[in-house]
Amino acid sequence: MTGPVRWWEMRPAEGRQAKTYTCPICHGMFLAMTPNTLLFPEGDRERRRHAHTACVARQRAAGKMLTRSEWERASRPARPSKQPWWRRLFGARR
Ligand SMILES: [Zn+2]
Repeated sequence: MTGPVRWWEMRPAEGRQAKTYTCPICHGMFLAMTPNTLLFPEGDRERRRHAHTACVARQRAAGKMLTRSEWERASRPARPSKQPWWRRLFGARR
């Protein structure tokens, strides 16, 4: 993969072919027939990669692999809050 990937499209996959994939996260090999996660860097079908579902989950838990909507939310400038000033001051943090 070239360049930093800002967001990922991901979906569960399970192949029927007797081949192996190399997980781009841990570089371990696994059989296509085991349930795994298909990754599309920024939705790019040409660069799709199969990864261990557990590896993806670990990355996601560490906040490293964002979905498009998460990335858009994170990169969008913060909009003025509709909350009353006192809620902002005294921490209405989620
Ligand atoms: Zn892995």
